Amino acid sequence: LDRVSAPFNDITWIINSLQRVSAGTESLLDTMEMEPEDKGGDLILKPMSPSIEFDKVSFAYPDSLPVLTNVSFRIAPGQSMALVGPSGGGKSTIIKLLYRVYKPQEGTIRINGIPIEDYTLESLRQCLAAVTQDIYLFDGTIRDNIAVGHQDAGAKEIHIAAELSQSIDFIEALPDKFDTRVGERGIKLSQGQKQRIAIARAILRQSSILVLDEPTSALDVETESLFQQQLADWSGDSTKIIIAHRLSTIRNVDVVVFLEKGQVRETGSPTALIRSGGRFMDYWEKQQITEFVG
Ligand code: ADP
Ligand code: MG
Repeated sequence: LDRVSAPFNDITWIINSLQRVSAGTESLLDTMEMEPEDKGGDLILKPMSPSIEFDKVSFAYPDSLPVLTNVSFRIAPGQSMALVGPSGGGKSTIIKLLYRVYKPQEGTIRINGIPIEDYTLESLRQCLAAVTQDIYLFDGTIRDNIAVGHQDAGAKEIHIAAELSQSIDFIEALPDKFDTRVGERGIKLSQGQKQRIAIARAILRQSSILVLDEPTSALDVETESLFQQQLADWSGDSTKIIIAHRLSTIRNVDVVVFLEKGQVRETGSPTALIRSGGRFMDYWEKQQITEFVG
């Protein structure tokens, strides 16, 4: 695991990629494509909540059919956007493009009005924190796993992050609390607990762009509702992209982008989209029935 000692700003991506390496050959390919060929320009993206804009972005993975077609949206500094839509629609791909894992074939992605290729890759990724579905906890203590990317964090900060991420109760119930080892040589955590550790990690980093890719999919309903109530508190004024599995998670976002088959079908506030009775409304209703029936 020597690669974990690489620059910590890349840590989220590195740990996710390690996860993928272990997932099979196809994933390994994915990992090798992670580092873009051009390292980008020499502008430094400052750690303040930025605007994010996709301008007519089209993208296909190498040797594949188009995944995104003419995707446009804009998030103002400090605002939150929910990306909603059926599985396979291209939501996670949008995040990979933002991380510059891949480059769109057409269109431009801008942060603060400047194409993201003009920033150094390092400063771009330093501003991003992501909580994704596949979370990798490395072999170390709970504390190490929360503080990764933030080595100088104090005990108090770590404790607050654990509280806000709803991890504190299960951590305090562990044999050695924050000093409990997890991973290969330690205890096994449930998927929901891992997600909460990842959320604590993101909270601690206080990055200016926060990405939640279906973060609460493994959380139980009660934890999820606590999590939602506190999202606004802990995410502060970061610019947020939330990919939500349960529509209840995104009730309070500023703007919803409804993405289907790689195209933006609808954009607007959650209330406006529900009133207009279009695709999002359909999806919302079906989802509620599914949630109800379980
Ligand atoms: P969502 O997050 O909305 O479920 P994704 O962005 O993960 O959708 O995937 C969109 C499409 O891109 C899917 O058809 C998926 O199979 C395809 N895809 C995802 N990753 C890759 C890849 N590395 N190579 C080729 N196709 C991919
Ligand atoms: Mg996805």
